[in-house]
Amino acid sequence: MGKCMIIGCGGVASVAIHKCCQNSEVFEGIMIASRTRSKCDALKEKLQPGTKTVIETAQVNADNVDELISLIESYKPDVVLNLALPYQDLTIMDACLATKTHYVDTANYEPLDTAKFEYKWQWAYRQRFEDAGITALLGSGFDPGVTGVFSAYAMKHEFDEINYIDILDCNGGDHGYPFATNFNPEINIREVSAKGSYIEDGKWIETEPMEIKRVYNFKGVGEKDMYLLHHEELESLALNIKGIKRIRFFMTFGQSYLTHLKCLENVGMTSIEPIMYEGREIVPLQFLKAVLPDPASLGPRTVGKTNIGCIFRGKKDGKDKNYYLYNICDHQECYREVGSQAISYTTGVPAMIGAMMIMTGTWKKPGVYNIEEFDPDPFMEALNKWGLPWEEDHDPILVD
Ligand code: NDP
Repeated sequence: MGKCMIIGCGGVASVAIHKCCQNSEVFEGIMIASRTRSKCDALKEKLQPGTKTVIETAQVNADNVDELISLIESYKPDVVLNLALPYQDLTIMDACLATKTHYVDTANYEPLDTAKFEYKWQWAYRQRFEDAGITALLGSGFDPGVTGVFSAYAMKHEFDEINYIDILDCNGGDHGYPFATNFNPEINIREVSAKGSYIEDGKWIETEPMEIKRVYNFKGVGEKDMYLLHHEELESLALNIKGIKRIRFFMTFGQSYLTHLKCLENVGMTSIEPIMYEGREIVPLQFLKAVLPDPASLGPRTVGKTNIGCIFRGKKDGKDKNYYLYNICDHQECYREVGSQAISYTTGVPAMIGAMMIMTGTWKKPGVYNIEEFDPDPFMEALNKWGLPWEEDHDPILVD
């Protein structure tokens, strides 16, 4: 069917690449292009013998638009799947515009020096992508990603209007370390040490970090503490889902994680302000990343399940209605299949599916779109087929 260039070769990319190789009918060729070429080569060596997908590799600095343009021009992919870091979104979008190539990512752009997640920078590309006749699909991971697809599906099949959405992200996994992060520590800690916020009646309401706590009994996992966080899909869902009055995002954290994080914060280790150390400038959070366990090393040690989904409350045929859509994913099963734990798995699978939707022309409209703006049905079907089956509950326990 076509060729896809995957930028980045970390935790999420590794899963997406495994999945592209399982799906050779669509992904006839992939190029893995990342900062450290040896990681791309190692993955090619592991996967090439077992797949019809033709794998190529390259070194690229995705901060450099000219480098990206010449790589895209030489490989001529149908789609670029950006699985590097949020800091590279705009340079990669620029290169896609210059080469008229479709673009897919899993996280919205974030400037290096301010921990602020907003779509405004990427939405500013709308007209240019439309004029170039290419599509940018934003946020094709799990959250954002599947949460947006779930919302579009609920809107299409279950409701006339959705008034409340609670997104619940539960990781019941245990890796046995006192403190480690399940994905890129810098991105993870920036996310959880930021102020919380949610949208009510069209306005953002800000909270202190971890100020709002609830307890929820998750199917497949059990009872967990969860905390309200700011999360990027709130911004797009509040605009794209009809009738929204309030939308919140909760993530579970264990007490040990929070105590360690508080301590690291109190001593300044989570700061993104550069400091001078022995004559050289370092960013404390980047230094912390260097001493923490590599998220990729957690795979074999992590046991338990994740449960991520959305609880919707709204109206159908004039009556109140509640509906919960979620996926349960087992860390060890993921590890056995692709050598990664469930956090990377739940992001890498939808990343592959998003690229597939664009490559096959199933989703086709020029411009810059969030995932809930497309027909959810083919994506929902693909989730069942490619390893993230969803479950539904028409009488869920609600979050107060
Ligand atoms: P990793 O840190 O494991 O991987 C990032 C990869 O990008 C690494 O291979 C890194 O190279 C490469 N990279 C970084 N900078 C550059 C650059 N300038 N040029 C080329 N390559 C570069 O991160 P994850 O795999 O955990 O996360 C990937 C993305 O997925 C992030 O944007 C993250 O925010 C997003 N994400 C989205 C989720 C969702 O549900 N929507 C959930 C989890 C993550 P090197 O190997 O040299 O370090």
